[in-house]
Amino acid sequence: MAIVVLLGPPGAGKGTLAESLCAAFGFAHISTGDILREEIRQGTELGRRVSACMESGALVPDDVVTAIVAGRLGQDTVRQAGSLLDGFPRTVRQAELFDRMLASGGMALDRVLLLEADRDLLVRRLTARRVCSQCRTVFNVIFQPPGRDGVCDRCGAELRQRPDDMEATALERLAVYEEQTAPLVAFYARRGVVVRVDAGRAREVVHRDACVALGLGVLSAERDGKGS
Ligand code: AMP
Repeated sequence: MAIVVLLGPPGAGKGTLAESLCAAFGFAHISTGDILREEIRQGTELGRRVSACMESGALVPDDVVTAIVAGRLGQDTVRQAGSLLDGFPRTVRQAELFDRMLASGGMALDRVLLLEADRDLLVRRLTARRVCSQCRTVFNVIFQPPGRDGVCDRCGAELRQRPDDMEATALERLAVYEEQTAPLVAFYARRGVVVRVDAGRAREVVHRDACVALGLGVLSAERDGKGS
């Protein structure tokens, strides 16, 4: 069972890559951002606790996200499939708690895939991102526009901008990344588990390079296979 962490700044394309890798290789996709947004959408107590924090671009407390990930990693189906963590860990404290969680479950981290991209590109990608309000498909009004303005190509529902993708908040999230998450690159590099991909290119190219960097063999997402 492989455990892979996707690391990189907001806008690098972690979610998009996670989806294509999971479709091609059958990993369980664990996105703490998606899980938290779903809690907010459903109006749960947890959602109410974290919504202001998320909308401001700040990180939610380490213990909250760590508990979410521990719950997912403990599920049998997830253990069998292998996991792709997207957006966790995001602080050194979370990485330390993650280490303990893995050790106590008899698991180990295989690889950290670092997505690198130029800051200007990240800002342009974040502020131009639109997400389907129903099926969550991600578009970008500059780089990957929908066929009809504001309408999802896949299901026809309305596209929306994430509140934290507004320019001021996007800039805040990039600053939070530099300050709190970027130190994880050195943290994991010391263990020799980091592989890097240039995330500034088209999603198909990033997918292919990520497969190679992770030693997975290139398998396109369209095949929807379960490993090579
Ligand atoms: P993302 O979808 O990964 O960009 O995450 C969106 C927001 O969710 C972040 O800006 C944080 O407020 C929150 N979040 C997601 N993952 C974490 C994490 N591992 N630690 C703290 N906050 C998180």
